[in-house]
Amino acid sequence: MKHDIKLEPISKWGVKNPKPFIIAGPCSAESEEQMLETARGMDLTKVSAFRAGVWKPRTRPNTFEGVGSEGLQWLKTVKQETGLLTATEVANVKHVYEALKAGIDIIWIGARTTTNPFAVQEIADALKGVDITVLVKNPINPDVELWLGAIERIANAGVTKLGAIHRGFSRFEQSIYRNPPHWQLPIELRRMMPDLPIICDPSHIAGTTTLLDEISQRAFDLNFDGLIIETHCNPKVALSDAKQQITPYELSRMLGRLALRSPETSDPEFLQTLDELRSQIDKLDVELLRLMGTRMKVSEEIGKVKKSQGITIFQAGRWDLILKKSIELGATEGLSEEFISKIFKAIHEESINHQTQIMNAK
Ligand code: PEP
Ligand code: MN
Repeated sequence: MKHDIKLEPISKWGVKNPKPFIIAGPCSAESEEQMLETARGMDLTKVSAFRAGVWKPRTRPNTFEGVGSEGLQWLKTVKQETGLLTATEVANVKHVYEALKAGIDIIWIGARTTTNPFAVQEIADALKGVDITVLVKNPINPDVELWLGAIERIANAGVTKLGAIHRGFSRFEQSIYRNPPHWQLPIELRRMMPDLPIICDPSHIAGTTTLLDEISQRAFDLNFDGLIIETHCNPKVALSDAKQQITPYELSRMLGRLALRSPETSDPEFLQTLDELRSQIDKLDVELLRLMGTRMKVSEEIGKVKKSQGITIFQAGRWDLILKKSIELGATEGLSEEFISKIFKAIHEESINHQTQIMNAK
């Protein structure tokens, strides 16, 4: 089903740099100094809005749950000083009223809230007749209908500055991602609502800083409209999501590295196929790593046995045999001798290191 809901493009949202639309700022507002220092470090020719959560949905109680409404005033100060638009998360009607009272420009509905139609409907009702930008994160479970449903509820309240955020989905399998992306879902959402701006949240997808580049580039390649990136003046001491936040300087560098491709050259079918293949590769890589970990554990067991018998770690005959067998088997899999030798030498070396540790343990 295609939608005919009329939405305004980002260029009509009062955004200084609409393509790509970059929102950056800390996971949580912690203090006015932390907010100002973070905002002052930003490249204002690229970043358009400043984010900070003041009410934090945390999995477990007794962790930092946000500074509350006081943080909204700090957002205002950031706006006064830098001209950046302000953005925060709302999860209930009280949050909406507080955010509106403080003059926040953009509110987003978090992944946990999107899963709950009652909560979304209450927020939508509170937004009737209000001119504000609303971004809806995907629900934590990969259900495009639930995501679309939340967007429809907000649109039906008359909000026309409306967008979606892909922040990845909860997982039960091992993954390199904190919240693995399912790119088919935002692609499907785009098909259903072609005018809906979609931005990507690489920080919550990755859960670590090392994957941010790759995820952001992927989002651009899939013609996303922008990014929301957790940025903190001193990530190490952040009160929430410390591992995934980058400094404003790192953000500028990263934005400089990303390539914006023109949408005309990105054939959605090609991109989807490429994406499915890449996700197969990602799964296989996880399996490879897990297998190597298991192999090392077995090799540690061998180390223990050798230690108890007082024999040497390295036994040349055994190693020659492994290499020979692997080259033979590799050939049947279409793998070159050079590749097998390289990879097995590396594995053997790591294995010896693990065994040495066992041998030398007191
Ligand atoms: C956040 O943006 O800090 C946040 C809590 O995100 P999510 O709702 O995606 O978990
Ligand atoms: Mn966060």
